[in-house]
Amino acid sequence: TPDVRPLVAGNWKMNGTGESLEELRIIVNRPNSAIGEKIDALICVPATLVFRAAQSVEGEALSIGGQDCHTQKSGPHTGDISADMLKDAGASHVIVGHSERRADHGETDDMVNAKARAAWEAGLVAIICIGETEAQRQAGATLDVVAAQLAGSIPDGANASNSIIAYEPIWAIGTGLTPTATDVQEVHALIRSALSTRFGGEGETMRILYGGSVKPGNAVELLGVENVDGALVGGASLKAADFLAICEAY
Ligand code: PEP
Repeated sequence: TPDVRPLVAGNWKMNGTGESLEELRIIVNRPNSAIGEKIDALICVPATLVFRAAQSVEGEALSIGGQDCHTQKSGPHTGDISADMLKDAGASHVIVGHSERRADHGETDDMVNAKARAAWEAGLVAIICIGETEAQRQAGATLDVVAAQLAGSIPDGANASNSIIAYEPIWAIGTGLTPTATDVQEVHALIRSALSTRFGGEGETMRILYGGSVKPGNAVELLGVENVDGALVGGASLKAADFLAICEAY
């Protein structure tokens, strides 16, 4: 999208211990990378690593995010993490509504919507994930599914500074399968038009990331599609070399 600075965001999922922080140092130490020059970069690490990750890249052009937050600020929710806690630990962003959380933890659009609001209240940018299943795509329901998820998962008050949308077809996550550039363009165009209709000018410049098996070998094609303002990268974000190679698509 013209005038939108791309973002390449990594999602480490349930991977990484202290020694993985070295990958972050490799990313920030790469000379002449697009990061900080042409694009923004973010790695969403497991909650246990947010504090150390943020410390280890402090002052560098790499942001650190969480992968989920609770809808509440604090309280009797054993094992959960609030947006305020992520912020306190040094995160600037948090993923909400990733399909793995929708599947593993039964998260609904309403819950994702509440999590996005909790993220904003804590001063975090919410990366709101949506995407269809393989069965929905085969049934020709992709655009309807995506439109419904957008309407339900994005709170009123979303703007280009507090929210990022990630379109992640579930069948493309971790599978090595990707939609064609034409298919990505179709969905991103629908998302853009829904965002513009609902949020006006803010919707015109809200970032829309593509996610699902983005690799160094397909990044140029996928990230070159109209209305694709960056990527959400799972598996290929675990190794600094792959993440950097994806950033080089810009
Ligand atoms: C993801 O976890 O958001 C993702 C897109 O994973 P992968 O890149 O491994 O498909």
